Amino acid sequence: MTKPILYDQDNDTLQAVLKELGQPAFRLKQLEEGLYQHRYLDFDEFTTLPKSLLEALAERFTLFPIEDKNEIISRDKQTEKFLFKLQDDNLIETVLMHYEERHTACISTQVGCPMGCVFCATGQMGYTRNLTAGEILSQIIFCMRRLEADGKNLTNVVYMGMGEPFLNYEEVMSSIARLIDQKGLNFGARRITISTVGILPRIRQFTEAKSQVNLALSLHAPNDKLRSTLVPSNEFYPLKSLIEASKKYTDYTHRRVLIEYALIDGVNDTLALADELATLLHGMLCLVNLIALNPAQDGSLKGSPREKVEAFRDRLMKRGIQTTIRLKRGIEINAGCGQLATSQKGK
Ligand code: SF4
Repeated sequence: MTKPILYDQDNDTLQAVLKELGQPAFRLKQLEEGLYQHRYLDFDEFTTLPKSLLEALAERFTLFPIEDKNEIISRDKQTEKFLFKLQDDNLIETVLMHYEERHTACISTQVGCPMGCVFCATGQMGYTRNLTAGEILSQIIFCMRRLEADGKNLTNVVYMGMGEPFLNYEEVMSSIARLIDQKGLNFGARRITISTVGILPRIRQFTEAKSQVNLALSLHAPNDKLRSTLVPSNEFYPLKSLIEASKKYTDYTHRRVLIEYALIDGVNDTLALADELATLLHGMLCLVNLIALNPAQDGSLKGSPREKVEAFRDRLMKRGIQTTIRLKRGIEINAGCGQLATSQKGK
């Protein structure tokens, strides 16, 4: 039987539980310190709390709801991929990428994904369920502990793993609230990025929230005809509406939008399409992030060769659109963008 997750409980609930268990008010601070500052993974680690209280909490709650079932490290040791089993035996993946001074966790927000983007392994899995805020936070805490053991710190969190974060808006925003809270994980909002394939109502809601968290929009094509063949949700939220909403976001927040564009050989990588993209993005505060599509499991779509990626970038730059080429990471361990997938439930 699965128990409620301690990291899913807000302050008021924790306070009420402690009161019910006859505990003095200061226990809440001790409990929260253990959860967010020390990031204990086991009730036994909370040495400041009485054993009887820990037993009572363990009876009611699960402390850490994800179990590390498998770890794969890339040959260059720059990428680690973790397979986690959830309390209900569902599986998710999390990726930790190391750059010179940066350590970035790419976390999942759903088991599978209902969006069905044709180039994405997660999209081909179908959708099982949303993750809770506690399950999302636990992936981050795991990465933090992992790095801390080596004397390093997590510097960035990207909501770009399995799932469409804006289809799980409440839990994602709740996880971010605790991630940036000084009494929570005290992590800088500007070092967090949420990536969406374009859920229009949620982009608007996110804009109104005036969050300091970065927004990335996965575009992959500059016109509706092509985009609808790659990203099925484009039928519901066409490009014009997404670009309008993104411009409103930049007006409101004065923050640029990151435009993600996966270049697929012979599909969306011509210079004519680069021109079309430049026209679409004209006047928008944005940075285009190009990546050659990572190999998909069935091998039907291929990433553009380096020369085409560079030519696409050069054309955008010439047209005044700030553009970078993203470093590829963890491809041989299927930890790159669009490669995350789990095949069966864990046991
Ligand atoms: S690209 Fe993102 S939104 Fe599209 S199927 Fe994959 S995980 Fe879902």
